[in-house]
Amino acid sequence: MAKRDYYEVLGVARDASEEEVKKAYRKLAMQYHPDRNPGDHAAEEKFKEAAEAYEVLRDGDKRARYDRFGHEALRGSGYNAARDFEFDLADALRTFMSEGIFSDFFGATRASRSSGGQPRGSDLQVRLKLTLEEIATGVSKKLKIKHHVRCNTCGGSGSQPGSEAVRCSACGGTGERRQVSRSLFGQFINVTACPQCNGEGRIIRDVCRDCKGEGRREAEKILQVEIPAGVSTGNYLTIRGEGNAGPRGGPPGDVLVVIEEAEHEHFERHGDDVLLELPISITQAVLGDRVEVPTIEGQAMLEISPGTQSGKILRMRGKGIAHLNGYGRGDQLVRIYVWIPNKVGMKEKDLFQQLARFDGVRPPQNWRSILQKMKEN
Ligand SMILES: [Zn+2]
Ligand SMILES: [Zn+2]
Repeated sequence: MAKRDYYEVLGVARDASEEEVKKAYRKLAMQYHPDRNPGDHAAEEKFKEAAEAYEVLRDGDKRARYDRFGHEALRGSGYNAARDFEFDLADALRTFMSEGIFSDFFGATRASRSSGGQPRGSDLQVRLKLTLEEIATGVSKKLKIKHHVRCNTCGGSGSQPGSEAVRCSACGGTGERRQVSRSLFGQFINVTACPQCNGEGRIIRDVCRDCKGEGRREAEKILQVEIPAGVSTGNYLTIRGEGNAGPRGGPPGDVLVVIEEAEHEHFERHGDDVLLELPISITQAVLGDRVEVPTIEGQAMLEISPGTQSGKILRMRGKGIAHLNGYGRGDQLVRIYVWIPNKVGMKEKDLFQQLARFDGVRPPQNWRSILQKMKEN
């Protein structure tokens, strides 16, 4: 797929200042963040595209190269010489976190990517489905992950024990190939990965037989994850260093645990409040009652005062979801629905007919203002 121009992606002029680039990115990132657009693939693509453009345009060096040579300029640097410069969701989320927009969320800010040495291992994304009850109070979960770990036999080096990798003679161990080119615009140095050693600077002579020179192998692990109360779909936790080990001793990636909220049979979530629909009888609505209702932490008593209208919302304070990384919690809202029986027996019918003769059961002249007041409370 053809890439869009990075300036166009961010909607900034070619001479935009660092500050303007940052502002434009922040705006797009907030708009298209997966937390705000759960399940929206187009938004996710936009989020990734904006992060990728920002990573290039915020870096003076990369930006200068991009300005001169376009997307081609970002290809073929370092160890992924054959690949296009492309962002996956984990990269995009990392860019977002490094911006500190999210710093109040889980307090996670990320150190800049490591430079030099072996490439970092990839991140793993794990989806974790939680019930509203688990979200309300926070929960500790065990996650089974499959990842690459350092090979024990060679300690990650990829060389059979007893032998050692030698410095690449083609690049002198730098892993880079520098070529001077001349063009209309003058002379420039083109840096690509050394083809002899794939940019690693070393060449393994005797390959480790357990890992075939990769320096890592597959393993399973159980991770214990503490989920704070108040998370919602699309939120994620970063578990540092538990992703895939990098090849040949490279630092490990992270595990990103992406939260998914399961639907609840009784409750509808509204921020940190939960809403319950409660049908009551005509007599309960007129006479009032004390009823037992489900809450996120089990049954609780609810007072229905005499004269409760259908549609009235009763508030049970502090019975909602704990605020994320904060104090206090939301409320449970109970929306009353007065149930009108569609079939009644002879006796009930007789009683209703008697009632019908009284003015007190008819809607008053000012019913509209009464309902208005009810909604305001
Ligand atoms: Zn090995
Ligand atoms: Zn080399």
